[in-house]
Amino acid sequence: MNLPEKVSICEVGLRDGLQNEKVIPSTDDKLALLRGFIDAGYKVIEVGSFMHPKKVPQMADTDEIFKKIGEVPEGVELRALIPNTRGVQRAIDCGCKKVKLNVSASRMHNLKNLNRTPEESVAGFADCVKMANENNIAISGSISMPFASPWEGRTPVEDVDAIIEAYLKVGINEISLSDASGQAVPNQVYDLCKHVRDKYTEASWWLHFHNTRGAAMANILAAMQAGMTRFDASFGGLGGCPFVPGAAGNISSEDVINMLDEMGIETGVDVLKVMALSRKVSELIGHGLDSYVLRAGRSKDLIASQSE
Ligand code: ZN
Repeated sequence: MNLPEKVSICEVGLRDGLQNEKVIPSTDDKLALLRGFIDAGYKVIEVGSFMHPKKVPQMADTDEIFKKIGEVPEGVELRALIPNTRGVQRAIDCGCKKVKLNVSASRMHNLKNLNRTPEESVAGFADCVKMANENNIAISGSISMPFASPWEGRTPVEDVDAIIEAYLKVGINEISLSDASGQAVPNQVYDLCKHVRDKYTEASWWLHFHNTRGAAMANILAAMQAGMTRFDASFGGLGGCPFVPGAAGNISSEDVINMLDEMGIETGVDVLKVMALSRKVSELIGHGLDSYVLRAGRSKDLIASQSE
C-alpha cells in the first residue's frame, strides 16, 4: 500500500472540541491541557478562536491563553481561528503567530447567510493577509464542506477549485479541507485529494474529518493514499454535538495516533499522554468521550496485560 512514512497531526480539541461543550474548563485548566499537548509531542495545536465572545463564549479566553503560555519550544506552532481583521488584531495583541480563516464551500449557504459567494468571501480576506504579513503572522485558510454539505449534497469539484484559486490569489497557500458535516466518503476523498494536489502544486494541505457517520478513519487512509500527510484530530473525539447524546464529532486523536503507530507511520506524538489528557478533560467537562482506544486500550498493551 502506498503510504507516507510520517504524518503530522494537529490537535484541535481545545478549539473544535471545547467550543461545542456546555461546561467549559477554566483558563488554567485549558493551559494545563495545552502544556500537556506540547509535552506529548504535538508540533501543531489549534488553541482557540478570535470570534466574537458573545458568539462563541467558550473561546473568549483565547487571548489570555496565548498571553499566559508565553514562549513555546522551537518548532511548535499554535494557531487560532479568525473571522476577519479584528481577529488578526487580537492575534497581534496576544502574541499568536498563526491564524486560520474559514469559508463554507456551500454556495447556497454563503449566499443565504452572507449574501456573497464563497469566492467573494475569500477575496474579502485580502486585508487579513496584508495585516498578518506586515506583522509576521502566518495565515492559512480552511474550506468547510468541500466534499458535501447538508444543504446541497455533494459539492461540485469546480466550486472547490474556485475557492482554492481565490485563496491562492489573496496569497494564502496553506489550505485545509474540512468535512465539518461528516459526509465525506473515502473514494471521494481520494479523488478530491489527488485532484487538488496535482492541480495546485504551490499549495500545502490539511485534512479535517469529523466522524459523524463513522467514515473518518477510512477517509484519513484514503487521503494518505492520495499523498496527504497532515490531519486534524481532537483528543477523546471531543466535538460531538452536546444536544445529541452519543453523536460523534471529530475523529479522536488517540484513535488516529494508535492506528498510525500500529501501521508504522510516525506522528511524533505519545498516544499514552494524549489518552491521559482525554481522561482529564472528561472529568473537567463531566461526560464520557467518543474514543475507541480510550475504551479498549492500545492493542499493543493487550499481550502485556495478559501475562500479568
Ligand atoms: Zn471541525
